[in-house]
Amino acid sequence: MSILYIVATPIGNLEDISLRALRILGEVDFILCEDTRVTGVLLNRYDIKTKTISFHQHSEDKKIDNLLSLLEEGKNLALVSDAGTPGISDPGGKLVQAVIDKFGQDVSIESVPGPSAVTAALSISGIPTDKFVFLGFPPHKKGRMTFIDKIFDSELPVVVYESKHRIIKFLEELKEHNKEIIEHNKRVEMEFVKSKDIEARRKATVSSVVVCRELSKMHETVYRGDIDHILDKIRDNKDDQRGEFVVIVGK
Ligand code: SAM
Repeated sequence: MSILYIVATPIGNLEDISLRALRILGEVDFILCEDTRVTGVLLNRYDIKTKTISFHQHSEDKKIDNLLSLLEEGKNLALVSDAGTPGISDPGGKLVQAVIDKFGQDVSIESVPGPSAVTAALSISGIPTDKFVFLGFPPHKKGRMTFIDKIFDSELPVVVYESKHRIIKFLEELKEHNKEIIEHNKRVEMEFVKSKDIEARRKATVSSVVVCRELSKMHETVYRGDIDHILDKIRDNKDDQRGEFVVIVGK
């Protein structure tokens, strides 16, 4: 029976890879890579010579058909993304679904767990994270306000991925929305000062925010506190605007 392995790879520090992941990457017939050059750096580091095939979010259905044919021929494949766990804001889900649809139980799909920016950030956040909501990347344009509303409506801490291009914009939007809610709550208190309705009409504000930048890399930085304070710090320092970001909004 062929096996499709879904293999987690480092999110920065190349030492963050499991022994099993290294063994499997060395043993499979092909490694499917989001970007063969990025994965090439990891494979070189561990002297893994397995052939790579490019597979990314823009890969056409024909590419998936070719990969299904390889599995049909009895080949074993490992899917990796540029960083972290495939399928988490990364390609993977479509291939897994296609394999299930075509082969059912006849091809085994196995996870090789490891790093993901979402769990790495949560683990050091200091925010209670027994339960959380992961919303991935905010949409660039359409649906952005609905996305922000979802963050505020959630009763659980919310984790968001953001890029260096939009981190300041995103924090400004959070700050602005929080301010509006504080104003709203003040109005409610004035209007309903003697009424039990106050609590029902108040809206939840954001209590604390954690911004994790460049996790496991040389310039790893973690900012904790209120949005204004974090925004000022990042805005004041161009270096702090570089890299990759995870934002956790506490409740
Ligand atoms: N599959 C990956 C995972 O399991 O975390 C996520 C891939 S997604 C395309 C890339 C985003 O993940 C980045 O824009 C950033 O928000 C987050 N990310 C990845 N590596 C990171 C790191 N070292 N530090 C902070 N955030 C990171």
